[in-house]
Amino acid sequence: MYFDTHAHFDSEKFEGDRLEVLASMPAAGVDLILDPGSDIITSRAALALAEQFDFVYAAAGVHPHEAEEVTDSYLADIEELCRHPEVKAIGEIGLDYHYDFSPREVQRKVFAAQMALARDLDMPVIIHDREAHEDFLNIMKQFPTVRGVVHCYAGSLEMSRDILKAGYNISFTGSITFKNNKKAPPIVAAMPADRYMIETDAPYMTPVPHRGKRNDSSYLKYIAEFIADIRGITPEQVAAETLENGKKFFGIE
Ligand SMILES: [Zn+2]
Repeated sequence: MYFDTHAHFDSEKFEGDRLEVLASMPAAGVDLILDPGSDIITSRAALALAEQFDFVYAAAGVHPHEAEEVTDSYLADIEELCRHPEVKAIGEIGLDYHYDFSPREVQRKVFAAQMALARDLDMPVIIHDREAHEDFLNIMKQFPTVRGVVHCYAGSLEMSRDILKAGYNISFTGSITFKNNKKAPPIVAAMPADRYMIETDAPYMTPVPHRGKRNDSSYLKYIAEFIADIRGITPEQVAAETLENGKKFFGIE
């Protein structure tokens, strides 16, 4: 019933039990998982998992943290990965001015180049935007035909309106369940039913009541319950809406 639209099962945190954890997901109510890459190596690892499990799909892209490490062939590598039918998006890509692991100028260049590739290949994008809202919106607006989702949304209510107006979807992680997160509930409440998605961002962002432990897709239910409570609907409705929105966004039958 659930679609975890963003989970890094390629992560080293799943080294010892990756295949067992993934195999247990259908019984935990997880129908679909999308594993986005952070660089070319993890994009290929995500694709390998997608080939192994029929409910897993992949995205290929270079995360802003890794922007400084790209080789000359990274765009050609992403393009080649995108030819595979199990690769449903370019991601995750974007800007991270919180950690600044790559120089901002390099982040912007690598992000814009991947947006141009998404436009040329007609692929949706998965956006990582941390404390870089203005530059993200400026680059996004240069590619008006690209469809996207802003993952792990942590911006303001006002910015969420700009994002929706631009045609992008918004996706929520377990960070909305954190007690100190006062910004999220009004944003969750205001979401149009056909424009939001849910994700664990596993192994990170573990929702309450498991905060601090390794995250996996079986914890998506806590995010759905939290959203259901705010929106005055059932967790099953949240699951159904977000499954439908995710399938439509990624073009999954
Ligand atoms: Zn992520």
